Amino acid sequence: MPELPEVETIVRELRQPLVGRTFTQVIVRWEKTIQTPVAEFKHNLPGKQIESIRRRAKYIWFHLSGGWSLFIHLKMSGNLQVLPVSTPCEKHVHTILRLDNGHEVRFKDTRKFGRAYLTRDPETVTGHLGPEPLADNFTLADFKALFHRKKGRLKPLLLNQAFIAGLGNIYADEACHDAGILPNRTADTLSAVELERLYHSIRKVLNHGIMHRGATFDEVYPGGKFQNFFQVYGRTGEPCRTCDQPVERIVLSSRSTHFCPNCQR
Ligand SMILES: [Zn+2]
Repeated sequence: MPELPEVETIVRELRQPLVGRTFTQVIVRWEKTIQTPVAEFKHNLPGKQIESIRRRAKYIWFHLSGGWSLFIHLKMSGNLQVLPVSTPCEKHVHTILRLDNGHEVRFKDTRKFGRAYLTRDPETVTGHLGPEPLADNFTLADFKALFHRKKGRLKPLLLNQAFIAGLGNIYADEACHDAGILPNRTADTLSAVELERLYHSIRKVLNHGIMHRGATFDEVYPGGKFQNFFQVYGRTGEPCRTCDQPVERIVLSSRSTHFCPNCQR
């Protein structure tokens, strides 16, 4: 699933072809994708101009004219294509958003878990989300405050979008390794020094991911290079790049979790 760096990269690439364009028509072939009543979605999107595009957590957020917001969450296999209307449509394109310049946005989604929302109240989509780890105003004190009275295991906490936004399996594992902290530690055992390391490591691995345009491991999200810099993720049995001990894998909250038993305490 695309995480913060992948979605950030996608957002940056969508701005040039899309900002300033106006939607003209909506074609929905798989209604479950559309979380707004489909008739309203089809009625309200045409005529709206894209004023800006930004990211919130793993959502792509189109700010539209008239105070409207279009949110797209790519989930497991979603992919947005901006192509001329005349280009033959690939399989698994379930939603098409026509534009005023002969192009269209195609939401291709093999596994159909992707979601789209059209609303004038963005809080209905983003209200449950935790803070953005890369925001300028997200301080170490803010990060430490998140852990107040938290007792759960660290990795599931980092994956919880209501706790902190944007991290997924890859960047949570990489951040724990960078900070030298075992992902199965319980949150209330982390010292102030460890929390400070983790705060900086989360921001470091996310920025590193963005710098390399995210990570690519299948055809869904092409072009990223961060997979070449993984320290532990997906490297079970391979030597830790820091200490040469084999990387280990455990399952935490039914998610694969990779760590170095020597570097991480
Ligand atoms: Zn190691």
